[in-house]
Amino acid sequence: MSERAVDLEVSRPTGDSDSLSVRARKHAAWLLDLDGTLYWAPGVKLAMACELLLFGMRVLPRLRRFRHEHERLRDDRDQGDNPFAVQLARTASALALDVTELERDVRTWMIERPRRYVGWFRRSGLLRAIERFRRAGGRTAVVSDYPALEKLEALRARDLFEVVIANGEPFGPRRLKPDPDGYLKAAQALGVPPRSCLVIGDRDDADGAAARSAGMDFCQVRAFRRYLASQR
Ligand SMILES: [Mg+2]
Repeated sequence: MSERAVDLEVSRPTGDSDSLSVRARKHAAWLLDLDGTLYWAPGVKLAMACELLLFGMRVLPRLRRFRHEHERLRDDRDQGDNPFAVQLARTASALALDVTELERDVRTWMIERPRRYVGWFRRSGLLRAIERFRRAGGRTAVVSDYPALEKLEALRARDLFEVVIANGEPFGPRRLKPDPDGYLKAAQALGVPPRSCLVIGDRDDADGAAARSAGMDFCQVRAFRRYLASQR
């Protein structure tokens, strides 16, 4: 595989800097985070905040606690085999709620209702680049710490990905990012060695750290245009 010198925000597994001149190789597979990467998160968050204020004040403390448990779980070694179920159970226990009722609220307010806004704020340029990459023979996967399939449908992007590894869905990761399990599973499913994979994500402390642990390159989504330019 050919290599070329580029100047872009790609961190190599052995490097710790975000903006360095590095020698990056072309990648056989792109592994993408979903939330905040395939769509512009601030727009979706603002729209959902308005909707929550109007119709969802009842569920606000539940969603807040659910997110809090998510961040706590990232650092926890005891995630079981299904981090989504553990996150639900811990939130329900902390708030003395029924797990089924909590899961209904989470799926309604964190997956179903945001769908239309996710579509509004899709990163069209990135999605077009993924389409071109696939047409050129590139391999693609989504790796998400939240359920992904409904959002991918809303993004009109389901067909762009051969593999979807998503927490809360079948064949999801055993552990949340920054654990590399999800990205390694995706690489294995694609049959591409980790060193030939590029992880594209919005969080260096989650996607970037997971990529480095997995021996993969990482590109911040905000630096993606520069990455593409470097490959021409
Ligand atoms: Mg993200």
